[in-house]
Amino acid sequence: MGKRTRLVHAGRHPFENFGFVNTPIYRGSTVLSPDMESLYARKARFIYGTKGTPTTEALENAWSEIAGAAGTVLTPSGLSAITVAILSVVKSGDHILVTDSVYRPTRNFCDTVLARLGVETTYYDPLVGASIAELIRPQTRVVFVEAPGSQSFEMQDVPAISEVAHARGACVIMDNTWATPLFFPPHERGVDLAIEAGTKYLSGHSDLLLGMVSANADHWQRLRDTFDAFAMCAGAEDVFLGLRGLRTMELRLREAERQGLALATWLATRPEVSRVLHPALASDPGHAIWQRDFLGSSGLFSVILKAASRAAVGAMLDGLELFGLGYSWGGYESLVIPFDCRTYRSATRWDPEGPALRFSVGLEDIEDLKADLDRGFARLRAAGAS
Ligand SMILES: *Cc1c(COP(=O)(O)O)cnc(C)c1O
Repeated sequence: MGKRTRLVHAGRHPFENFGFVNTPIYRGSTVLSPDMESLYARKARFIYGTKGTPTTEALENAWSEIAGAAGTVLTPSGLSAITVAILSVVKSGDHILVTDSVYRPTRNFCDTVLARLGVETTYYDPLVGASIAELIRPQTRVVFVEAPGSQSFEMQDVPAISEVAHARGACVIMDNTWATPLFFPPHERGVDLAIEAGTKYLSGHSDLLLGMVSANADHWQRLRDTFDAFAMCAGAEDVFLGLRGLRTMELRLREAERQGLALATWLATRPEVSRVLHPALASDPGHAIWQRDFLGSSGLFSVILKAASRAAVGAMLDGLELFGLGYSWGGYESLVIPFDCRTYRSATRWDPEGPALRFSVGLEDIEDLKADLDRGFARLRAAGAS
C-alpha cells in the first residue's frame, strides 16, 4: 500500500468505536478487570492509563507503520522522546557521540543529566561520515545523528555513519523531526531509534506537544521497558490531535516543501542575503546526500545575511506583519527567529559572515510573504546594513 493510503487507514478501527471514523479520546487511570484471576494475569489489552489507551495505541501503531518500525512510544514532548530514547540504551560508564549540530536542548541534556549519571558525551563534526570510526571507543554505545542539523542545516551521511557504528557495536539514534518518516525512512537507512517531535509537522497547527520514538526490532523491548519505567506518557488530547494531524500530514508536508522552496529560492536572489541553508537547493553543500537519501524537504531552512548590526536585524524583524517571532515550527503560520550557534559549538566553528535567520514557512500566499520580507529588507537597509 502507498504512503497516502497508509496515512488514511493506519491505526483506525471504526467498528471498535460504534462505526465512528476516528478513535475517540479515551481518558483514564483505572482500567477494571472482570475478575480476580484476570487482574493477577495482567493479560488484558489495557491495564492502566500510563501504559496505554485505545487512543495512544492507535497512534503508536499508525506511527510504527509509517516509520517502518517494530514499535513506537508516545511521550509528552519531542525533547522527552529524545531523553527516553537515549536512556533506553546507555548506562553509567558509557560514551556517546553526538553531532555538534544537534538540537540545543539535546546538548543540554547530555551536558547535565547524562554527565551526572556518568555517561560521557563527545560532540563530532556533522560532516564526519564514515570517519566517525576514529571517534568510536570500546565504551561508545550511541551515535546520535540529526539531519539536517538544527538551525544550521548540515546534511549528515546517515547510512555511512550507521554502518560504521553497527560494525563497532554502537547503536544509532536519530532526531528525524525535519524530514519525518515520509521524507526520510529512518529504519531503512540504518537508524535504530528514531525521534520525531510530533509538536511540529504531525501537529501542523502549533496547538500541541508530543514526541514519538520508533524502534527497530533489536531496540524495541528496551525502549518500551524504559518508557514504562518512567511512565513518560503523552496527554490524551494531544495524542488525539496527533492522530488527526497524521491523516493530512503528507499533504501539509508537500505544501510546506513547495512553499519552503519558493521562499528559499527567492531569498537566494536577494542582495541582502549571503547564503541560503536548504539542502534541497542545488547550491547547498549537503545537496548530494539529500538527493540520495531523502524523499522531500520540509518548510524549515535558514539564511545567512550579509554583515548587519543587531539593531538593523531588529528593525527588519520587529516590523514583520506575517512572520511571527517565536520558537518551535511546522505550524500553518510562518515564523522567523534569529540564531547564533557561536557560543556553544564545540567540535566545529560557526562563524558566518553575517547574522543568521531561521524561517518556518507557513501556508500563507507566497507573494504576501515575499512582500512582508521585502519591506523588512528595506528596513534592514535603512537601519544601515553594512
Ligand atoms: C522542536 C524540536 C524538538 C523538541 O520538540 P518539543 O516538542 O518542542 O520538545 C526536538 N528536535 C528538534 C529537531 C526540534 O526542532
